[in-house]
Amino acid sequence: MKLHINLRNITDCLYDVIIGIKLPAITSEIARLNGFSKYFIITDSNVKRLYGNEFLKTLRTDKIEAHLLSVPAGEKSKTRKTKEQLEDKLLKLNADRSSIIIAFGGGVIGDLAGFVAATLLRGVPLIQIPTTLLSQVDSSIGGKVAVDHPLGKNLIGAFYHPKKVYIDVNVLKTLSEREFRSGMAEVIKYAAILDQNLFSFLLVNHANIIHLKQSTLIHIISRCCELKKMIVEKDERETGLRRVLNFGHTIGHAVESLSKYKLTHGEAISIGMAAEAKISTSLGILKRSDMERLTFLLELYKLPTLIPSRMNLKKIIESTIHDKKVQQGEVHYTLLEQIGKARVGVKLTADKVIKSFNK
Ligand code: NAD
Ligand code: MG
Repeated sequence: MKLHINLRNITDCLYDVIIGIKLPAITSEIARLNGFSKYFIITDSNVKRLYGNEFLKTLRTDKIEAHLLSVPAGEKSKTRKTKEQLEDKLLKLNADRSSIIIAFGGGVIGDLAGFVAATLLRGVPLIQIPTTLLSQVDSSIGGKVAVDHPLGKNLIGAFYHPKKVYIDVNVLKTLSEREFRSGMAEVIKYAAILDQNLFSFLLVNHANIIHLKQSTLIHIISRCCELKKMIVEKDERETGLRRVLNFGHTIGHAVESLSKYKLTHGEAISIGMAAEAKISTSLGILKRSDMERLTFLLELYKLPTLIPSRMNLKKIIESTIHDKKVQQGEVHYTLLEQIGKARVGVKLTADKVIKSFNK
C-alpha cells in the first residue's frame, strides 16, 4: 500500500509512505535511488543489534558507501549533545550533498536523525524507516523533528519532511509487548477522534492484532497513516485541525511527566484519554455509553485507564497549565463528542476540570 503525502500548497513537499514492504525490499529500493553515493543509517543500540548490521551489509556495494551510526536506545539519546556527536561523526565521514540520512528505529531515532538531517549542511535528504508501532502510525508522518531540553521534551526542533517513509510491519515481532500496547494507545486515539469504523475494527480484530497478523497490522497502520496524512495536509503547522491529535495528551503529558517517565507515552495517553472522555461526559458533550466503550477498548488492549492512586488530581491538573496549549489560565482541551468525532479548543479552568472529575 502506498500513500501519497502532498504538502505542495504549504512547503512544496511531496512524498510517499510505503506500507507492508519488507526490509530486504526496502534496502534494494534505497540502493536504486538516483543521485546518492553516501548512505548514513542512524539507529539505536537495540535496532542495530536486531536489524542494523544486516541492513548495512546488504546496502553496501561497490557503488554505495554506507555507514551505520548508532546511539544508545531510549529517550535519553534525544539530546543536543547526541545530535552534536552525530554531526561530528557525519562530517568526519565527509557527509556531503550526495549523502542521504536514513532514520532506522523508533520515534526517538526518527526525531533525532530527522533533526540532524534538517540542519546538516542546511538540510540533507532523509528517509524514515520507523520500527515501533508508535513511530509507524505517528511520528514518521508529519515532519516534526526535535531533541529534548532539560526544561522539556521536543523544545528544540524543526519541520522537516522525509523523501520517503518505508514501513515493514514484520519488525514489530521483536518489539516488547509493553511497547506494542503503548503504540496501540495512539491507534485507539485515531479511532476515537476520527474513525468509528476503525474503532469497531479494533474491537472485533483484537486477537489478530495482538498476535501480530500481518494483513491486520497493515490494515490498521495504513488507516492511521491515512488519517494523519489527511490532518497534516490540511494543517501542517498545528494551527487548528491538527489539534484533534492532542486528544488524551493534555492530561496524558502531565501524568507522563509526574510519573517521571516510568509510564510509557502510550500508557500515559491511555489514562489521559479515559480522563478527557470522562470530562467530556461530565460537560454533557459525550454520551456516557461512548465514554464506557472507549474505556473498554483501552482495557481490552491492557492499557491503564485510571490515574495512578499515588498521583494527586489537583497536581496533575495544575501541571497541565505549563502545557503549550494554555492561554490566560484556561487550558485548551480536545474533547470527544462521540466515537469518531472530536471537538478542539474547549477552554477549561483547572477548577472546572476538577469539578467535572468529581461529578
Ligand atoms: P523509541 O524510539 O525509544 O523505541 C522504544 C524502544 O523500542 C527502544 O528501546 C528501541 O530500541 C526499541 N525498538 C525499536 N524498534 C524495535 C523493534 N523493531 N524491535 C525491538 N525493539 C525495538 O520510542 P518510540 O515509542 O518509538 O517513540 C517515542 C518518541 O517519539 C518520543 O521521543 C516522542 O517524543 C517521539 N514522537 C514524535 C512524534 C512526531 O510527530 N515527531 C510523534 C509521537 C512521538
Ligand atoms: Mg502522542
